[in-house]
Amino acid sequence: MGDDEVHNVIIIGSGPAGYTAGLYTARAMLEPVMFAGYMSGGQLMLTSDIENFPGYPEGIGGPEMMMQLREQAERFGLQVHDKNVERIDTSLKPFSVWVEGEEHRAHALIICTGAEAIWLGAEGEDEQKGRGISTCATCDGAFFRDEEIIVIGGGDSAMEEATFLTRFASKVTLIHRRDVFRASKVMYERAANHPKIEIKTFRQVKKWLADEKGLSGAVLEDPRDGSTEEIACTGAFIAIGHTPITGFLEGQIETDESGYIIPKEYTMTSVSGVFAAGDVVDTRYRQAITAAGMGCQAAIDCERWLEENIH
Ligand code: NAP
Repeated sequence: MGDDEVHNVIIIGSGPAGYTAGLYTARAMLEPVMFAGYMSGGQLMLTSDIENFPGYPEGIGGPEMMMQLREQAERFGLQVHDKNVERIDTSLKPFSVWVEGEEHRAHALIICTGAEAIWLGAEGEDEQKGRGISTCATCDGAFFRDEEIIVIGGGDSAMEEATFLTRFASKVTLIHRRDVFRASKVMYERAANHPKIEIKTFRQVKKWLADEKGLSGAVLEDPRDGSTEEIACTGAFIAIGHTPITGFLEGQIETDESGYIIPKEYTMTSVSGVFAAGDVVDTRYRQAITAAGMGCQAAIDCERWLEENIH
């Protein structure tokens, strides 16, 4: 059953943006409701150590930080449901949000659904997903104790995954398609200087190789001349970026060609009363701290909008 009540605000998604929006709207006495997703907490649930969130001199684990953010927001009354939103309807006011086939209504929405990992799409990938190829080192790294693994990508995610995986693997080879890295200097150097990590540049995975036990290697191609070589590995971690989770909007909110929500006025989207914060809208910074900051901005914008338009 959906509920008959028209809520002030429904928050969709539960990373640092969602929980911060929840904290602020709860403290503003808006009695916010959050649909956190089946796997609440967002991408930071898949992160080992967060070292760049101010206030944690020793760093903090991603899941631990998400638990604390949730507890903090719940203390002020945020109502959290660990369920996925299937679709929304913004054609009528109040807005409708559909969850497990039930309708929930609210005057305002704050969308904080974040982004999810992109797969490479190389030949043989679908067959080896979960049989050696993963997009989450924190989740699957421990399966590769004393094995040789590869990590694909040249950003912070790839550096972080490669460094983390040295805890388990006998050797980690980082494969990048260029010789320029998007990763921050500190994270690049940590990986580059690690004795267990070898970096191979100008390589793309052309094809995955497998035997009866699962992944056995990959064919790598040099994008400059098309020459190929084989690398042996029993595990591979793809860390080539993320795509925003906006499919459930079904085109009702304006997005760019990659699916990121386009903000229109501060954090308000193309639909008045619908706000967005965090990685779902952010193509530039994509940090936990910036997502949390945007969650705060969206909550304040939402509170003002409700005051001016509803209450
Ligand atoms: P990213 O910075 O966008 O890097 C993606 C990498 O994957 C790039 O090196 C890119 O290569 C490569 N790539 C993309 N498509 C590819 C393809 N089809 N084949 C081969 N390589 C491909 O993504 P990210 O590393 O996930 O980081 C996203 C954001 O999160 C960044 O702002 C980052 O700072 C942040 N982050 C921060 C931390 C931290 O501070 N602890 C940890 C993780 C992520 P090109 O460079 O050639 O395009």
